[in-house]
Amino acid sequence: MTTIGQNLKHVRERIATACLEAHRNVEEVTLLAVSKTFGPEAVRAAYAAGQRAFGENYVQEGVDKVAALADLPDTEWHCIGPLQSNKTRPVAEHFDWVHTIDRLKIAERLSAQRPAGLTPLNVCIQVNVDDGANKSGVAPQEALALARAVAGLPRLRLRGLMTIPEPAPDFEAACALHARARAIFDQLNAAGLGLDTLSAGMSADLEAAITAGSTMVRVGSAIFGQRERVAA
Ligand SMILES: *Cc1c(COP(=O)(O)O)cnc(C)c1O
Repeated sequence: MTTIGQNLKHVRERIATACLEAHRNVEEVTLLAVSKTFGPEAVRAAYAAGQRAFGENYVQEGVDKVAALADLPDTEWHCIGPLQSNKTRPVAEHFDWVHTIDRLKIAERLSAQRPAGLTPLNVCIQVNVDDGANKSGVAPQEALALARAVAGLPRLRLRGLMTIPEPAPDFEAACALHARARAIFDQLNAAGLGLDTLSAGMSADLEAAITAGSTMVRVGSAIFGQRERVAA
């Protein structure tokens, strides 16, 4: 088995253990493998180990990888990076999901640019649950209005919410932050939005996110290894 295959196995075990301890069914949690900065061979190794859903942060890198891996059936590509309005078209054309909707204008462009031959683009609204300084995402009190507007767009399918909380000092604090996201998710569903996806939790905090009710964890370094530092 490749290192990536072994890492994936270990991450799946972490997810299973977290679900067991939280009395949740392991099938409720999807693993998204975040392949940003890693080449197509790394994705192929993960694919060979059974992984199908992959996350990318940078539009051009993601589009290139989707093209390089077009021979792999049943892959699902998720855009999880901040999205500027001049970059929406390649995302609408090549990705299956976008997790980072934080304003209506981006959603409208994605809907208008989604090719007619493809199924509607799955989207999540990014919520800033901890007022993280210069981080994207809507404020919690704005989530419902944006969700209603996005849900009305014809070529999008609103699936849920996404969060990237600041690193917390301990497990309890991490759970409390993730629980804020879950509370907003539940509130939107009580308002009738029919969401099925709470995208929360990364390599360092996936257990806390699952404990609080995440349904999709986005895991990069625990699968593919440490990323080279990219100049900011
Ligand atoms: C890079 C990234 C991840 C994965 O982070 P790891 O700590 O490597 O697991 C998850 N979500 C987003 C939005 C990211 O940018």
